[in-house]
Amino acid sequence: MKFAADRMLGKLAKWLRILGYDTVYSRKQSNDTFLALADDDRILLSRNTRLVGRMGQDRLVFVEANDPKKQLQALIRLLGLKPDPDKFFSRCAVCNALLEPIKPEDVIGRVPDHIWTDHNKFSECKNCGRIYWPGSHLARGRREIRRLLGE
Ligand SMILES: [Zn+2]
Repeated sequence: MKFAADRMLGKLAKWLRILGYDTVYSRKQSNDTFLALADDDRILLSRNTRLVGRMGQDRLVFVEANDPKKQLQALIRLLGLKPDPDKFFSRCAVCNALLEPIKPEDVIGRVPDHIWTDHNKFSECKNCGRIYWPGSHLARGRREIRRLLGE
């Protein structure tokens, strides 16, 4: 399942990417550009009440909650999502591209020294150049996700 989040849902988009879902998000897109993303088989996520009537309920989900974690939980319930742990942290939280493994010696100078010393698994976003390591997506990593998913 793929998503597109409107400009008020940046944090939700980040969470969906962390869980491995392909999620388009841009602060700059117009409403029409946003709605057109449904043609790409994406479920649209919006907090804009004016958009709700313009698209069927199966294509556009109106997100009621303010809190990003509550938004995510509501979405999981509503769509019956089953996030796959194998896909957690497989995507860049910032730009949505898939991450690729990178050798530790290739990230020297690109991550803080203490991070390099403490970790031996890194991945890279070829799109924006960000380097990730276990725990870099969010401080408490998988534990935080499990709590969020209610496990
Ligand atoms: Zn990126």
